[in-house]
Amino acid sequence: MNNLNFEQPDQKGYFGKYGGKYIPEQLQTAIAEVKEAYDKYKNDPDFLEEYHNLLKNYVGRPSPLYLAKNLTQKLGGAKIYLKREDLNHTGAHKINHCLGEALLAKRMGKKKLLAETGAGQHGVALATAAALMGLECEIHMGAIDIVKQHPNVIRMKLLGAKVVEVTQGGKNLKDAVDSAFAAFMQNYKTTFFAIGSVVGPHPYPMMVRDFQSVVGKEAKQQILEQEKRLPNALIACVGGGSNAMGLFNEFLADKEVKMVGVEPAGKSFKPGEHAATLTLGTPGVLHGMMTYLLQDEKGQPLPVHSIASGLDYPGVGPEHSYLKDSGRVEYTTANDIEALDAFLELSKTEGIIPALESAHAVAYAIKLAPEMDKEKIIIVNLSGRGDKDIDYIAEKLKL
Ligand SMILES: *Cc1c(COP(=O)(O)O)cnc(C)c1O
Repeated sequence: MNNLNFEQPDQKGYFGKYGGKYIPEQLQTAIAEVKEAYDKYKNDPDFLEEYHNLLKNYVGRPSPLYLAKNLTQKLGGAKIYLKREDLNHTGAHKINHCLGEALLAKRMGKKKLLAETGAGQHGVALATAAALMGLECEIHMGAIDIVKQHPNVIRMKLLGAKVVEVTQGGKNLKDAVDSAFAAFMQNYKTTFFAIGSVVGPHPYPMMVRDFQSVVGKEAKQQILEQEKRLPNALIACVGGGSNAMGLFNEFLADKEVKMVGVEPAGKSFKPGEHAATLTLGTPGVLHGMMTYLLQDEKGQPLPVHSIASGLDYPGVGPEHSYLKDSGRVEYTTANDIEALDAFLELSKTEGIIPALESAHAVAYAIKLAPEMDKEKIIIVNLSGRGDKDIDYIAEKLKL
């Protein structure tokens, strides 16, 4: 059964009342061009063949669906399966949509890929796709993040990308997005804006979701092969929401499958100390979309914090806002301490060091599994690996 309401935004790019295209006049043509190209190529056999061939032979897909036996036994409840996006080339799910966006840019005759990055994960994945396809790449990154995420800055440079330091505002992800938008406005004729999550103006939330939906498609097939039935629950962390949409999309019409998105509760629920947008935010407009936001009375985005830089964003993809209001997906939180505990727990029990972002999803699985019957099945999206986080953890734990 396919419930189209859950799968496609309307003509103007709205999921319910969320999404749309809140962009300045000068960008209308450029974004319309992306929409037109995506509509043209998304069902084009040559385009899809090239995309899937890269996913297989360059990224290493399908990623395994792994039964975490030790963790399951230790918790004594539902079986926990991990969708191993951490094993992808470049170490996370982001390469899935970066290759799609880069292929599209190439088909459109663009010379350059432009994007923002927070922790540098999207920047690295995009610089990788650009190198592969012979495109230029320009990444905007906050000055604070450049210092914090130095190894990723080096990676981007090695891959041939130009890293633009953003010194305005809070000097982090939100300001990097503003800066990338401004640069795009000046060069949209030769440049493709490759947004890093299911956020931004239509068609980006839909397009990035579609490129990520390979995660859920594989997971469904894999669980049916291994268990001969659908899972009872899916769990994914939510920053902008691309890894979560990638896993959830294929299961939206399967009403019996519960879905949980886990947001970062950071240090506390005080403003500035978390990034729990759907849990504590209100609807508003940011970066071209209507969606839940953490904002002040004037509609200005609030500062955010999470131990996982990849979750540090005051907005969220509009489809998640819709799925929250409709009740189809439940949104909850894990804080810095719970994420850190889950990071250590998965490392020790399974020999898998997760990204701190993914550790938020693992933290919730650790809470949920013992409350469920042993016959039940949980799939956790392990969105990335933790190599990038070990220096930070070492300092924090004085290792
Ligand atoms: C960027 C990132 C995230 C957060 O982005 P989403 O769009 O919410 O998926 C989560 N996990 C990892 C490993 C990341 O690099």
